[in-house]
Amino acid sequence: MKEKQLSENIYEKINVSLNSRSYDIYIGHKLIENSYIVLKDFLINNKIIILYDQNVFDKFVLLEKSIQKVSKSIIKLEIFPGESSKSLKTLNFLLEKILSEGIDRNTKILALGGGVTGDLAGFVASIILRGIGYIHIPTTLLSQVDSSIGGKTGINSNFGKNLIGSFHQPLAVLSDIDSLDTLNQREILAGYAEILKHSIIHDKKFFEWLEVNALSLINGDNEKRKFAILSSCKIKREIVQEDEFETGKRETLNLGHTFAHAIESFSKYDGKILHGEAVSVGIILAFKLSVKLKLCSQNDLKRVSNHIQSIGLPISFKNLNLQNVNPEVIWEIMKKDKKVKKENIIFILPKFIGKVFVCKDIEPQFVKNLLREEL
Ligand code: NAD
Repeated sequence: MKEKQLSENIYEKINVSLNSRSYDIYIGHKLIENSYIVLKDFLINNKIIILYDQNVFDKFVLLEKSIQKVSKSIIKLEIFPGESSKSLKTLNFLLEKILSEGIDRNTKILALGGGVTGDLAGFVASIILRGIGYIHIPTTLLSQVDSSIGGKTGINSNFGKNLIGSFHQPLAVLSDIDSLDTLNQREILAGYAEILKHSIIHDKKFFEWLEVNALSLINGDNEKRKFAILSSCKIKREIVQEDEFETGKRETLNLGHTFAHAIESFSKYDGKILHGEAVSVGIILAFKLSVKLKLCSQNDLKRVSNHIQSIGLPISFKNLNLQNVNPEVIWEIMKKDKKVKKENIIFILPKFIGKVFVCKDIEPQFVKNLLREEL
């Protein structure tokens, strides 16, 4: 199949325009098995590293078969599934292993897996030989709608999540909707939380569409999945284009994340709470904080909360069943987050569904009171 034929049949393309760092996001069907057609310009005559998550070995086999048509030199690197792979230990292992293969600056890394694989592979690509190119091939809903776009890469530290990292844009993103067929319902829901986040940040009409269509897209309706992934990518693209290095507008993408990262850090990334689940609780807490400060209506809080509950995502700490959690511990963790400036924790608060703002001067007492009520 030729690229034109392929595009007519199976994918849509969105361009992320960032001067010399611009790239295309391909969203469609059968993209992994046809990846050599879409990606050939990046791959031809180059050494290729496929860094993949153990749980997507079936997709790795398809990818390798396809890539072999344009590159004879493929290095395979498998990583252990889960957040614990975003560590200095795994990073060190990957760097040494890749260097031992004798790569050069034309070598490309293909990151096949979810947000964990993408964040890790992107970080490796950004520092090895002072930076080489990489391509995201996201296989979770969360990574297709969020983490593969925008060039944030990184790993976790004992002091918090994603504290070691870089901005390094990919050369392309290949989102194969078919790859979601093997993802379990809980992971689909966790990815859905980021779609919902984008609608609340930027697009009330999209939120209203989600209220009607969320269940069918979660349950596997491919047309609705495609629409939601495209819409979500377009929102993130717009924000990233306006503020690539997160000095203003891009901060709004962190809606719910100040709370979410504290929840994940408290549970020591043990995999019991998924990132999207923590974000779901975080979004509701951001609404509650905004209502407390009289910056947002109780009605909007109720509407979002009803929607989240109706699809089966958590809305409170109680839904997460955390052991030995108390407000002081969560507060202390929040203070270590990178969203802290001059002792003030930065919160992204909703004004109404479709509009949020960055709030840098909240009295700690408001947050502590909210945590006390919740815990
Ligand atoms: P993940 O990568 O851990 O994937 C979730 C689980 O699904 C894993 O067990 C994985 O092995 C499995 N999996 C992946 N694809 C599969 C498939 N097609 N079928 C079956 N199983 C599959 O997690 P995630 O939710 O994709 O991403 C979460 C990570 O993304 C977090 O580390 C978060 O910090 C990061 N993130 C980064 C950004 C960014 O801008 N860089 C944005 C949001 C989230």
